[in-house]
Amino acid sequence: MTTNISGKTRVCGLIGDPVEHTMSPAMHNAAFAKLGLDYVYVSFRVKGTELDKAIAGMRALNMRGLNVTIPHKVAVMKLLNRLDPLAEKIGAANTIVNDDGVLTGYNTDATGFLQPLLESGIEPKGNNVALVGAGGASRGISFILAERGANLIILNRQQDRAKDLADRISQTFGSSVAALELSPGNLAKTLAKTEILVNATPVGMSPKSDETPVPAELLKPGLVVYDIVYNPVKTRLLREAEAAGCKTISGLDMLVWQGALAFEKWTGQKAPVELMKAEALKLLGDS
Ligand code: NAP
Repeated sequence: MTTNISGKTRVCGLIGDPVEHTMSPAMHNAAFAKLGLDYVYVSFRVKGTELDKAIAGMRALNMRGLNVTIPHKVAVMKLLNRLDPLAEKIGAANTIVNDDGVLTGYNTDATGFLQPLLESGIEPKGNNVALVGAGGASRGISFILAERGANLIILNRQQDRAKDLADRISQTFGSSVAALELSPGNLAKTLAKTEILVNATPVGMSPKSDETPVPAELLKPGLVVYDIVYNPVKTRLLREAEAAGCKTISGLDMLVWQGALAFEKWTGQKAPVELMKAEALKLLGDS
């Protein structure tokens, strides 16, 4: 679905490398059309060496907004005029808003992760959260969970990466964060006292969708299980969690909400979240 392009069409888009598999154009263009907004969203493959030119181009062409994906989320920050305090703390920006040449960077990956929890009536404050993984996605997730007052335990295959992340959070928020090696024993100990489990590793992602980062016997009724993997939408972890009586949240909701929150910043309108999700599901082949 595309909007009608006019002489006044506002342009938004995505920069990254690669970008070919993105679902963002489908989600955003459907949302613009639904709300009758004269906007269009396109994706651009931008090499690392061309990033400064891409941002200069955004200014010169007076584009309204950009999403930024791997590998540019950190490098783009120094090219912007302003940073939202959360993006600054995280050290990564995935959304740029252009207000008459003033470029502001936001991190809607982090707020997009939080929103499905809030929509499900789950407030992180005071809850023990086991976060599995300490890579790029875990960074924003761990910062927003710490900011919202969760007690974090980070488990990672390479324990030193979990420790680095935990130290950064402690320095920023003054809260103590545990960092453990990802092992069956540590998972069992941690999950015995955990309200929310987040998988932020690619384990279980297609084509290895028969894998799971957490043994099914550790999943107990009442636990909230949030898998940020979105392909497949229902991972083995989520299927086993559902069977064990856990509340589950899919990575697709995070993906859709990071887009929806960017959409709202660019347009000032409430995003049609269900429509955006339906568009993403069509592309994932699960509709
Ligand atoms: P990343 O920076 O490469 O980090 C990967 C993390 O997973 C690291 O902590 C790594 O541990 C761990 N890991 C990788 N393979 C593992 C295995 N076989 N067993 C245990 N741990 C393993 O990746 P990322 O950017 O954080 O992305 C992680 C996943 O999140 C991907 O599947 C991505 O598609 C998904 N994601 C979803 C959304 C969304 O909107 N839903 C957004 C971003 C990312 P080590 O440090 O020990 O290597």
